[in-house]
Amino acid sequence: MHSNCTKNLLFRRCLNKKIIQADTFVKVFIETKPTNQICLACGQNTGRIHDYCYQTIKDLPFQMKHTYLVLRKRRYACCCGKRFLEKYPFLASYQRRTLRLSFKIIDLLRNMRSIKSVADDTNVSANTVIQRL
Ligand SMILES: [Zn+2]
Repeated sequence: MHSNCTKNLLFRRCLNKKIIQADTFVKVFIETKPTNQICLACGQNTGRIHDYCYQTIKDLPFQMKHTYLVLRKRRYACCCGKRFLEKYPFLASYQRRTLRLSFKIIDLLRNMRSIKSVADDTNVSANTVIQRL
């Protein structure tokens, strides 16, 4: 992972666990430190971890290769019975790409580039680029 990325505020809480480099892509396995979370249902503070799951997230290209973050997402359990996923500052809800990749797509579109070329450069579909408009 490049040096300014590790200093990036968005990823300050992330621990880099492993990096896999292939000819066409880079996979970075990351995880956050457990912290107390506020339950969305009842507002209580909880630190009880229910389980984990992995999500692959597209990120900005690194060394001209498609970059994927494999995030170990943590699900918390509250005493009220509600279970909820941890919130991440670099990832919007129900998205499979980082916020900075979304911002990069918008920035490339400002330069009057074609939707197809922006989609190719950022490793997303043309429909994803159109949704950013
Ligand atoms: Zn609760």
